[in-house]
Amino acid sequence: MNQRKKGLIYVYTGDGKGKTTASVGQAVRAVGHQWKVCYVYFFKNPDDYGYGELEVLENLGVKVSGFAQKHPHFYKDISPDEMRSQCLEGADFIRKLFKEDACDLLILDEINIALRDKFLQEEELLALLDDKPPEMELILTGRGATEKVIEKADLVTSMTKLKHHFDQGIEGREGIEY
Ligand code: ATP
Ligand code: MG
Repeated sequence: MNQRKKGLIYVYTGDGKGKTTASVGQAVRAVGHQWKVCYVYFFKNPDDYGYGELEVLENLGVKVSGFAQKHPHFYKDISPDEMRSQCLEGADFIRKLFKEDACDLLILDEINIALRDKFLQEEELLALLDDKPPEMELILTGRGATEKVIEKADLVTSMTKLKHHFDQGIEGREGIEY
């Protein structure tokens, strides 16, 4: 464990590009100071989209885990109930990381989407945040951060879309979006 006194809560939200990549950059910076970093992602399936960052983070020694990987928006065979139970599994895993004081920096990529899409209740996430070990730094990403999550955070950055190439019909590109 590093020498910091109080770990803060950081939220990257908003409709513009840059939330997940900012969290990855932050992970790289922390590893550069020999911090232990854990990265837990939701709603992403690396088997279908080879997210370039996940393997690189693992190679840097970051403990990477994924939950609720198939969002029903993209995978029609997954039910909301199934998503909820997978998100709860993710929450249990996060609580375990807290109990074990497993890292100096924990990143929860797209966790805000679990609330937005009602797979987790706001109170469940807020209760989880209350269990964070005091020294652990915590980053939450995803569009639509709720008022109460924003209130609990120490830093909130909203990525604002001024333009996005997606609106020109240019779809996600390897190396840029995944
Ligand atoms: P990145 O992973 O590139 O940092 P992000 O985490 O900010 O982006 P998300 O909201 O998680 O973006 O969206 C997932 C995907 O949708 C990303 O690949 C991103 O490039 C793309 N995206 C981001 N903003 C927009 C937008 N305003 N319109 C359409 N697609 C977007
Ligand atoms: Mg993202």
